Amino acid sequence: MLELPEIEVLKRDLEKEIVGRRVKTAEVRSNRNAMKIVKRHGRRKDFQDLLEGTKIDKIDRFGRVLLLELDTGNVFSIDLGGSGLLLKTGGSEEMETHTHVVLSFTIGGQLRIIDPKLTSELQVLTPDELKALRDAPPFAIDPLAPGMQFTWSHFSGVLQDRETPMRALLIDGSFICGLGPLYADEILFTAGIRPDRPSNQLSSQDVRRIYRALMETFQESIKARGTSVGELPFRDLHGEPGAYQIELKVYRREGEFCRRCRHDIQKVEMDGTDAYFCPQCQS
Ligand SMILES: [Zn+2]
Repeated sequence: MLELPEIEVLKRDLEKEIVGRRVKTAEVRSNRNAMKIVKRHGRRKDFQDLLEGTKIDKIDRFGRVLLLELDTGNVFSIDLGGSGLLLKTGGSEEMETHTHVVLSFTIGGQLRIIDPKLTSELQVLTPDELKALRDAPPFAIDPLAPGMQFTWSHFSGVLQDRETPMRALLIDGSFICGLGPLYADEILFTAGIRPDRPSNQLSSQDVRRIYRALMETFQESIKARGTSVGELPFRDLHGEPGAYQIELKVYRREGEFCRRCRHDIQKVEMDGTDAYFCPQCQS
């Protein structure tokens, strides 16, 4: 699953690389699975007609979904799910297996969507459809939303209304969008808070530490261009992996020394996933 820092890296890459470009052709490839990620449009031609000839004016993001604003007023929305990959390539570069959609630009270059597990979803939305998407629950916190909407006092308020172990709350997509087990474990380690501490039993200093750790972890991951681990590691718009995995302090480090206190990092099962923490540094 792509998480918020990786999606933000892609958003910034798209801003640099494709704003101002005009779409010459929008091809849904002929492989059997290609239409599955564009299923909303029913026919290849419907999707093509909405994209061909349009200019990309601006890049936005709504939660985990990338939004490419078109000069027709519509928005090309790209949800990469848990397995999608977005690549900017030259027109003559070899197609990777599982390439399903290819946008070619009038001045050259292509945007390709590759997805071995078909969890992505692409659609061209009208302004009304976009509004419906933005207005539909869940109203999850987006810590990287522009305009500093996510403040410490807001975070503190919403935590008091819940009575959930802190880690379970952090990875709940209806509470915060785009934050999975990896970042939850890193954030709670940085904050010095045990993963099972109930959210409504934190001091205001604890809440402040979690808030700071969350913002710091996300910003540092973006600076390192994301975390690339697991079976389908993250790659940026140019196909390059991120480097934040080198800086991880607890995730998948069970049995290794804590970088802060030298105690062994522990792994326990929690919320249906493996949780990693330092029993000495986190209380
Ligand atoms: Zn420690």
